[in-house]
Amino acid sequence: MSVLIVGSTALDSIKTPKTENPRLLGGSASHAAVAASFFSPVKLIGVVGEDFPRRYLRLYKRHGINLEGLQVRPGNTFHWSGEYEANMNNRRTLLTELGVFETFTPTLPTAHRETPFVLLANIAPSLQHHVLDQMRRPRFVVADTMDLWLNIALEELLRLLKRIDGFVLNDSEAQQLTKEANVFTALCKLHKLGPKYVIIKKGSHGSILSGPKGIFICPAYPLPRVMDPTGAGDSFVGGMMGYLAGARGSIDTHIRRAMIYGSVVASFCCEGFGLKRTTKLKRAQIEQRMKELEKLTRF
Ligand code: AMP
Repeated sequence: MSVLIVGSTALDSIKTPKTENPRLLGGSASHAAVAASFFSPVKLIGVVGEDFPRRYLRLYKRHGINLEGLQVRPGNTFHWSGEYEANMNNRRTLLTELGVFETFTPTLPTAHRETPFVLLANIAPSLQHHVLDQMRRPRFVVADTMDLWLNIALEELLRLLKRIDGFVLNDSEAQQLTKEANVFTALCKLHKLGPKYVIIKKGSHGSILSGPKGIFICPAYPLPRVMDPTGAGDSFVGGMMGYLAGARGSIDTHIRRAMIYGSVVASFCCEGFGLKRTTKLKRAQIEQRMKELEKLTRF
């Protein structure tokens, strides 16, 4: 089965204490789509401007990503810039230029509306609603978000939570939304807002799922050297959704393994700037790291 992914399609300029990389291929949907493409067919919904390099379009295509829902509009591509501190964890946004995103209305090609798996990657909740409005009875819908939407679009986000199956957010966002410092209490409060599955990401410390079968602690792959963690969260959820779409059987049967696959793809994402490492990845390398992670967590 395939997965439909909507989110930002961006040019990212990323600064670290050691280096600066301008105008890399980025955006929540780009990271998620490439990650998902290792496991199942992907349909990308987004918008780019006329400045979007053709080689990036070729990169999507090399991953077999369906681009019928990617609009190319007059104007500039969404441009985001961030700077990391030496610990490669703390990040501050230097610039957000919406460009063609300012007037973006995602219209789904008719054939896309039947897609069973839907990932509403990080983007304004109003656009996530707009995509969901066009879908015909999807099997499994997961949404991601960021602190910005908690600050400026909370009502729309809360309305969205009542329409989705799974919600993915990081620990500081969970704390902001629930006013609860304990992650397990926060998970309970988040279920009350709607979603049956809630995943709280904890960066290099992995993630925690709460669902109908209880709690699952998902490890992160231990990386001695992080080049650029931008998009790791998107790669995680993209890999997870791609694996779920490609697996037969119930969500509960596969979601734990799907999270581990997501975690593995996210680890590769951190090893290169932007999508540089992920786009060179081979399925066999994913499987190798899966085995290592299995050994590390067996007891
Ligand atoms: P993450 O590292 O998982 O937080 O995701 C980083 C990605 O989010 C980058 O590739 C950015 O292009 C994208 N991004 C940053 N700000 C926004 C925003 N306001 N809306 C949508 N995507 C964004």
